[in-house]
Amino acid sequence: MGRILLLADDVASQVAAGEVVERPASVVKELVENSVDAGATRVEVAIARGGISLMRIVDNGIGMDRDDALLCLERHATSKIRTGGDLAKIRTLGFRGEALPSIASVSRFRLSTRSHGALEGTEVLVNGGKIDLVKSSGEAPGTQIEVRSLFYNLPARRKFLRSENTEASHIQHQLILQATGHPQVGFVFMREQNVVFQAPPAATLMDRIRDLRGGEFLEQLLEVSPDTANGITVYGFIGKPGISRATRTEQILFVNGRPVENITLQHGLREGYHTALMKGQFPVTFLFLEMDPEAVDVNVHPAKREVRFRDPDGVKEAVANAVQKTLEADRKRWSDAFQRPEKARVALESSSRIPIIDTTPALIPPSQQFSLRRDWSEFNAEGTSPAPFLERPTVERSSLDSEPIEPTHSGSLAGRSAPVFSSARGDGDESNFQGTSPASSDSHSRSPFDFRILGVLGKLYILMENADGLVLVDQHAAHERILFERLRKQMESAGVPIQRLLIPLTVSVTPKDYDWILTNAPTLEKMGFALEPFGDSTLKVDGIPPFFPTDDPGLAIRKLVDELRSITTSTSRLRMGEESIAKTVCRHAIKANDDLRLPEVENLIRDLLACDLPFCCPHGRPTMIQVGYGELEKKFGRKV
Ligand code: ADP
Ligand code: MG
Repeated sequence: MGRILLLADDVASQVAAGEVVERPASVVKELVENSVDAGATRVEVAIARGGISLMRIVDNGIGMDRDDALLCLERHATSKIRTGGDLAKIRTLGFRGEALPSIASVSRFRLSTRSHGALEGTEVLVNGGKIDLVKSSGEAPGTQIEVRSLFYNLPARRKFLRSENTEASHIQHQLILQATGHPQVGFVFMREQNVVFQAPPAATLMDRIRDLRGGEFLEQLLEVSPDTANGITVYGFIGKPGISRATRTEQILFVNGRPVENITLQHGLREGYHTALMKGQFPVTFLFLEMDPEAVDVNVHPAKREVRFRDPDGVKEAVANAVQKTLEADRKRWSDAFQRPEKARVALESSSRIPIIDTTPALIPPSQQFSLRRDWSEFNAEGTSPAPFLERPTVERSSLDSEPIEPTHSGSLAGRSAPVFSSARGDGDESNFQGTSPASSDSHSRSPFDFRILGVLGKLYILMENADGLVLVDQHAAHERILFERLRKQMESAGVPIQRLLIPLTVSVTPKDYDWILTNAPTLEKMGFALEPFGDSTLKVDGIPPFFPTDDPGLAIRKLVDELRSITTSTSRLRMGEESIAKTVCRHAIKANDDLRLPEVENLIRDLLACDLPFCCPHGRPTMIQVGYGELEKKFGRKV
């Protein structure tokens, strides 16, 4: 007799289960997918002890008749495909016909199901893959599956399970994925008889995200409006620039309704975010891709977690474009919030009364704020209603035609109390901030931007007012962003002008650094560094970019090279991309002076608003934070 035997069915199922059923969460995933495929509009999941002792999934889908209830437990039994050709155009979540027999082979399993309109249902009990009992049952139409004592007959597998809490959180993650992917289906998740979350059937993805994560979380997201490119439609939500996580857990991606992990999509996201994403951080996404099922192979992974694209480049491009467009649209929204409403501008120009908006932003030092308050009351005494100070100007400004109020007060009053900025420290030197263009200062009265600078907090944060409320700006991050974009533009055109040093410097470096610098010299030169070899591991520097520290350029260069080198060793490349060098160079540029004076602060803000991506620094940290009136009203209990 030969040595080869066909495995008995229950053994074969256990082998298959090894791939499909890794942990309790995989059971929940498979069963919920079946419920969704069965057209359920409500799915209830209850677990006990991390799912290890019990997982119960109840749905109101189409259910099964008695024959199907028995057949579905056979290996390779599926209602979802018929021929090999069908495999290429799968629209359902399942298709392998493996889940139910696999799960039933490694647990104590109970299936109770009834099709709509059937007089009675069917109940099947299975123990370790062997059918113990089949009988009629009287449950409601739909399907109920209970999986108890997972891996009771596979002690080795059971040992690999983690704590109950860990397993439960994997299950919850799976359910969040499924609930995100199918907003039209209502979900309830219970753990040890307590409701963990409830998501009613939702009309839109936005409603579903709000139900699952709350309104505040939703405010951190941008909507990606559906856009089709390369035959791929991309839509959903992505985190605003500066919103990111240290892990991929909130990077949720769907392809044709299926949550997937895929390197092509990850690359697309990274490319789309570009400098809006911090190094080592991952974006928050709820991104959906719809494409011809023939353009994607879903039959790659036993748990169907991965997919393979026929045209990976096209997919990557579609994702990157969708992300880029969304970020750009948000950039426009931001600058709109700094724009004077059209109506108000007309009112301003036609009004013959006192100037309504003093375009010179006023900064009021704390010492004078009290007198300002006195001014307010004087002003009220003159007969103007105090109410407008409490109402918000967003509304007023847009309905300004006849009664322009708020900006007048603050502007003219501040004018009266003499705008003083940084008076204690000001030394009259206007040129101490390097990096803002001189062009912007003379054009500011014509500028379309409308904001009012309120002051500087802790020498670092600029506080200002725009149409939506309060804006906080990190002055250093803003400066880095402006410099980075300027550097990039100059590099693309003629290169950064080199500032010649009167006396050339010699800088000696380690032999390794020396090689590195010579390899990257052309890039550094484009950035305004004039370097040449000067004997063994010594460099001659006779020019630096205008924004580079001049007090000890030798030291500054050594520090810059140190940091650039540390990046290269971590990526184990010798040659660096221009982008990454530019980012680092910006970090080493002269920082905006801490004691910025009013015109400099103004110029900084104008330059920032003129950037392509003003809301985060080249490393992905936010430059501005908007605290809207809505948020303030909520915090002060004016609005619930
Ligand atoms: P697949 O989903 O890959 O077809 P499964 O083993 O998960 O394989 O399920 C086998 C079959 O059992 C499905 O094709 C479907 O017809 C039926 N089935 C499973 N779960 C349900 C359910 N909750 N409601 C109705 N039918 C179901
Ligand atoms: Mg299935």
